[in-house]
Amino acid sequence: MRVLVVEDEHKIAAFIKRGLEENAYAVDVAYDGEEGYDWARSFDYDFIILDVMLPKMDGISLCRRLRQEGNRANILMLTARDSIDDRVAGLDAGADDYLVKPFAFRELLARLRALARRGSEQRTTVLQVGDLRLDLMTHQAERGGHKTDLTAKEFALLELLMRHPNQVLSRTIIAEHVWDYDFYSQSNVVDVYIRYLRRKVDDPFPEKMILTVRGMGYRLVEPEYA
Ligand code: CA
Repeated sequence: MRVLVVEDEHKIAAFIKRGLEENAYAVDVAYDGEEGYDWARSFDYDFIILDVMLPKMDGISLCRRLRQEGNRANILMLTARDSIDDRVAGLDAGADDYLVKPFAFRELLARLRALARRGSEQRTTVLQVGDLRLDLMTHQAERGGHKTDLTAKEFALLELLMRHPNQVLSRTIIAEHVWDYDFYSQSNVVDVYIRYLRRKVDDPFPEKMILTVRGMGYRLVEPEYA
C-alpha cells in the first residue's frame, strides 16, 4: 500500500513516515498543499494522510480539489483537537475519516486498516486466495498449514497480489504501490521480491500461484487441483 503524507511539520511527517514504513507501507511526503496536490496527481495512492493546516493550500481545499478531479484514494484528515468545524468541513470535502492530533500511532494504523476494509469486499483482517492466507495484523502468510514470516516488502507485495487475484499486475503498478518514489525506479526490484516471495509461498508446493505473464507482469491465481 502506498501512502502520501501531506504535513508541513517535519517532525510529525518523519514520525508518520518511519512508523508506516515499519509496517510495510511505501510512503512519500509533501510539505505543503501545492506539493501535495502535485504528488497526488502523479501517482495512484492507496491512502492520502492530509493535515488541515498547510501552507499554500489548506488540507480541506486540497481534499475538495482532488475529489472534484475524481481522485479515489482513501483520504484521512489530521485535525486539531477541539476543531469540530475542521472535521465536518473535511468530511464534507470528501475525506473518508479524520484523526485528531496528537494521536497514538497504533490508532493511525487501525484507521488505515479500517479504510482498506471499507474499500474492499473483504471485511476481515485475513486475505485468502485458494489455500494461501495472509494475516494483515501479524504479517504472516500461511499455506497448506505451513506458516511463514514475511519481511515488510514481501508482505506489501503479497497483499497487493492477493487483493487483485487473477488480475495481471504490471511491474509499474506493483512498484507504484509497494515502493516509494525514492526506490521504485530501481529496475529489477519487483522481480527480485517476486523471487523472494515465491521461495516462501510457492517453492515448497507443487501448484504454483504466482505466475509470470510474459511481457506484462505477474498474476496470483488460485491453484487448480486435479
Ligand atoms: Ca500543519
